[in-house]
Amino acid sequence: MSKLELDLDALARQFEPDVWRRGLADARAGAVVSCVEAEGMRGWYTAKVGDPRPRTVEFQLARAAVHGQCTCEQRYDCRHLAAALHTLADEDLAREVAARKAMLDWLETAEAESPPAVPRILPRLPVP
Ligand SMILES: [Zn+2]
Repeated sequence: MSKLELDLDALARQFEPDVWRRGLADARAGAVVSCVEAEGMRGWYTAKVGDPRPRTVEFQLARAAVHGQCTCEQRYDCRHLAAALHTLADEDLAREVAARKAMLDWLETAEAESPPAVPRILPRLPVP
């Protein structure tokens, strides 16, 4: 994840204060499943935020402005987007989310690669 200098105060003004606070609470509670910058598209992010159903929020982020859309009913400037921003702005939260994402990716790969069930072979009895 690239280092971001965010003007959180400016970003916060885009949100209802209550939504902004709920986003922070969600982020601290671990609701952000993943938050990654799109490959080759600087400043474009996709985040999955669960509460408990994961929503996908895609946004373009600059230092003091964000434009995005979420799959929830509110669509714009919702708590999911707020949670993603709080995560990006907080190094500890960002690290936690990155670690969780790596774990989920690993689990997915491990599941996909696990070999088919081997038929059980009975041990051969020693012949007298
Ligand atoms: Zn949302």
